[in-house]
Amino acid sequence: ELGGQAPKQARSDEGGWTGVNERTFIAVKPDGVQRRLLGEIVRRFEKRGFKLVAVKLVKASEELLREHYWQLRNKPFYSTLISYMSSGPVVAMVWQGLDVVKTARKMLGETNPADSLPGTIRGDFCVEVGKNVIHGSDSVESAQKEIALWFRQSELHRWESSTKTWIY
Ligand code: ADP
Repeated sequence: ELGGQAPKQARSDEGGWTGVNERTFIAVKPDGVQRRLLGEIVRRFEKRGFKLVAVKLVKASEELLREHYWQLRNKPFYSTLISYMSSGPVVAMVWQGLDVVKTARKMLGETNPADSLPGTIRGDFCVEVGKNVIHGSDSVESAQKEIALWFRQSELHRWESSTKTWIY
C-alpha cells in the first residue's frame, strides 16, 4: 500500500459499512406494492430509527432476479419465485443504522408468514410463503452483494439526519 492513504474503514463507499453505518437491502415485493403496503412498511423502518439511503420503483428483469436468488436455483419453487418477483414493480430500498441487517429480519418475521409473530411485517400482512410481501438481506455479506446488484453507487445517498443524536 502507498503511504498517506486513508485507512480502509474511512473509505466508506467500498464496503466496510459497520456500526451505525451498517446497511441492508429491503425490497417490497410485487404483492406488497399492489396491496398498498409500501407506506406502512417505510413507516416502520423510519419510526424504528433507520435512515433511508436509497429507494426506487423497479420492474426487475429475470436476469437480475436469477442473480439475486442464485442460491435458491435448485429449489422446486425457484421458477415460481422468479415469475412472482417479476409480476410487477418492486420497491427496492437501502436502509442504514446500527444492526440494521439483524433488526430488519426481526421486523420482517420468518420466511413463512405462518411462523411469523403478529407485530412483524409478514406476521401482520400476509399468509402464504409464496406471497410474503417483503425481502430483507440475511447477513451483512449478502446485504453488500444485493445492494451492489440492485443499485448504482450514485443512487446511494449520504445525508446527515437531524434526529441522529436522539437515536444514538
Ligand atoms: P427469506 O426471503 O426469508 O430470506 P429464502 O431466502 O429462504 O427466505 O427464500 C426466498 C423467497 O423464496 C421467500 O421470501 C419466498 O418468497 C420464496 N420461498 C421460500 N420458500 C418457499 C416455498 N416453500 N414455496 C414458495 N416460495 C418460497
